[in-house]
Amino acid sequence: MRGAETATTRTGRPAFFAPLLELLAPSRCGVCDAPRADLGGGGVCRACWASLPVLDANAACPRCALPGNGSPCASCRLTPPAVTRTAAFGLYAGGLRTLHHAFKFSGWDLLAAPLGGRLAALALATGITDGAHALVSVPSTGRRNRERGYDPAMLLADETSRHLDTPRRALLSRRRDTPPQSSLSAPGRRANVKGAFVASPRARGRVLVLVDDVVTTGATLFAAADALCAEGAAEVRALVLARTPESA
Ligand SMILES: [Zn+2]
Ligand SMILES: [Zn+2]
Repeated sequence: MRGAETATTRTGRPAFFAPLLELLAPSRCGVCDAPRADLGGGGVCRACWASLPVLDANAACPRCALPGNGSPCASCRLTPPAVTRTAAFGLYAGGLRTLHHAFKFSGWDLLAAPLGGRLAALALATGITDGAHALVSVPSTGRRNRERGYDPAMLLADETSRHLDTPRRALLSRRRDTPPQSSLSAPGRRANVKGAFVASPRARGRVLVLVDDVVTTGATLFAAADALCAEGAAEVRALVLARTPESA
């Protein structure tokens, strides 16, 4: 017992505190493992932040942010979603994919602040939150949030809201837990989330901006927007961290 109390790391810190310090102030970049001297916020180095695959909004579908030629994609032309516009920070690839995994699956929640700052800058550049009454995060299932200890989309929305005049409002909840979307095909994803959300009557007459981490087919985002529109939302837009290059 005494040995455990007095054990220290190479730096002389008590061993007990080493994992805690690593969480609060990581010593290496969470994406490329570069040493701490190069860190540029959120435990990620400046080179990794600079090399994230940013999405060109002028060459993406305005409804679902699918990369293309800037016109509505075939899917949005065929079945226009309840979301009128989507702004996405980057492509779900390379460093952004690694960073997202750290944020969502490895407990790296200190990424929320710098990511929220980037989403706020995107909101201002695109005008996606202009005239909006509130940001509404797309809720993950309760079980998955309990497992990781936080709701990634809610954290992102809170950090984004801090830079804008637009508050976050909890106007959506999950009606039921659904299997993870990543395990399903595109038609399966739509069926999986259809009716999964229930919105508050306080959505009525409001212009709302959904905030989520990753859009793959848009099925989750569109189901969330359907629920808000069913309660009378005037308009629903979306602000997301990453968009997959294809609706796979
Ligand atoms: Zn790095
Ligand atoms: Zn589209």
